Amino acid sequence: AAAAATAGGGGERGAKYKDPKQPLNARVDDLLRRMTLAEKIGQMSQIDQENATAGVISSYFIGSVLRGGGSVPAADAPPEAWVEMVEEIQRAALSTRLGIPAMFGIDAVHGHGYVYKATVFPHNVGLGCTRDPELAKRVGAAVALEVRATGIPFIFAPCLAVCRDPRWGRCYESFSEDPKLVQQMTSIISGFQGEIPASGRRGAPFIAGQRNVAACAKHYVGDGGTTRGINENNTMATFHQLLGIHMPPYYSAVIQGVSTIMVSYSSWNGVKMHANRFLITDFLKNKLRFRGFVISDWLGLDRITSPEHADYPLSVKLGILAGIDMVMIPYQYKEFRDDLTTLVRNGTILMSRIDDAVRRILRVKFILGLFENPYADPSLAGELGKQEHPDLAREAVRKSLVLLKNGKPGDEPLLPLPKKAHVSILVAGSHADDLGSQCGGWTIKWQGLTGNNLTAGTTILDGIKRAVGPAGTNVVYSESPDAGFIERNKARFDYAVVVVGEHPYAETAGDNLNLTIPAPGPAIIRNVCGSIRCVVVLVSGRPLVVEPYLGAVDALVAAWLPGTGGQGVADVLFGDYGFTGKLSRTWFRSVDQLPMNVGDAHYDPLFPFGFGLETQPSIY
Ligand code: BGC
Repeated sequence: AAAAATAGGGGERGAKYKDPKQPLNARVDDLLRRMTLAEKIGQMSQIDQENATAGVISSYFIGSVLRGGGSVPAADAPPEAWVEMVEEIQRAALSTRLGIPAMFGIDAVHGHGYVYKATVFPHNVGLGCTRDPELAKRVGAAVALEVRATGIPFIFAPCLAVCRDPRWGRCYESFSEDPKLVQQMTSIISGFQGEIPASGRRGAPFIAGQRNVAACAKHYVGDGGTTRGINENNTMATFHQLLGIHMPPYYSAVIQGVSTIMVSYSSWNGVKMHANRFLITDFLKNKLRFRGFVISDWLGLDRITSPEHADYPLSVKLGILAGIDMVMIPYQYKEFRDDLTTLVRNGTILMSRIDDAVRRILRVKFILGLFENPYADPSLAGELGKQEHPDLAREAVRKSLVLLKNGKPGDEPLLPLPKKAHVSILVAGSHADDLGSQCGGWTIKWQGLTGNNLTAGTTILDGIKRAVGPAGTNVVYSESPDAGFIERNKARFDYAVVVVGEHPYAETAGDNLNLTIPAPGPAIIRNVCGSIRCVVVLVSGRPLVVEPYLGAVDALVAAWLPGTGGQGVADVLFGDYGFTGKLSRTWFRSVDQLPMNVGDAHYDPLFPFGFGLETQPSIY
């Protein structure tokens, strides 16, 4: 059949694989047997969008493209610009001999965060505090729609790390330190991909249709268990511990039909996960019967040997033999193709291994419907940021907030604050008016941005103003009130809302051994809370050291990284809704205690896992 191929332009007319009425396996097998080795290796390659010219795609038969931290389209580009970019890549892929559609992927880790005006949901640490798997599923479904609206069918989410040490810069991407809670929150996969119908086969990759995306559970496995939380480092654990702590979310993900799984940069007992044939092939594929495809992390293959690229052919050999099917950013796709070709030609890697990889990739592409619907569905154009999604984000925010203290001993509870005329509230701290810090990393840019111009959304300050506006409560904002300001004004204010916390970061940039509240947060707390009854709202991706300030504050709220739905914060501060969130993580007293997780022998936290005070909605 390959000989009968028509050159250029998706030939093979009438071929079985093009017929949607054929069974899935028949289509996969038919296509696979027509493919040359170069075409197979192309399917196994995922390159960065910034290199994905039509020429590269068609001469290397590139199977997948991702938007990493790149700059195209521009930060404030409308959704149509994304659709256009993805379509251009798709046209090039479809013009190749076999016309195999490309699968474009993106890090939609808390909403379609790289896209201007998309809805940004709370990062996973906050979703974990909602303890609400059904809400996570609705969030997943909304994210899928927003991603599809830009013509993208594949996301690198959810992160199923079980973060055991908050010093890790990716702690906020983890739903919890508790394997069971992470396992429950894998329900988000059924939102992303759609839910397997009762009659369906559980455990096989499943994507319901054009309103859903292929999800990617990451980072397999043990990413959240590295020593001192050092990113991409070594996780020391017995196999028994690995199975009990880091593996459970993957059992659930596979049962729910997750279609792809990304390998972790980290090592397990000194062996790079990207080279771990036992855990990828023997355990995940053979024992857990995962039928989707395994993708490497960005340059993950290259990092098998160190320093990076030290011995690329060896890295390729170890990674592909370990069971990696698709390689995210092969350091040079030409090198990757040539080295892998040599390894197959000289018998080091059997063609059956290559066929297994390609079969898995094609299966997901067929299930995604890419052969029938390779381009964006124009009827989804209005889904990005449509009102139901910010409403859902706001609901997720108010359910994710955890009330840690409410009133000093012997005092009345401070929250909810009253919405009344003649009440005057000081809002202090730059985090009250900083949408970028609210959103954290993976928003517009990989590392995130500070300030209010990055995208559309409601800051905490705006949320407060809107909440109390109709009642006529007076709100004054001061970014960084010093002692003099407080001295001159203290009698003016009945209450203060102090919003302090971390600035955006992603991955290694967020590794932090001190976990103190960044300046000027502590000074603002001291200045304000010494004179005015205050609630401190902490915007952070993880618990921070708060014990030294706890006596001075009247109320303390963990807001995590709430995203664009800042009004959800005001909803609970002013009692439109009660506080219900429960800690998804242990709140330590001091970093000397770390790592410290629920169930540990000497568990002495400031606030235990699962802690969270509740309030009733206000009657005002
Ligand atoms: C991260 C992944 C991410 C990938 C693509 C890597 O650095 O570890 O989580 O999906 O980049 O952006």
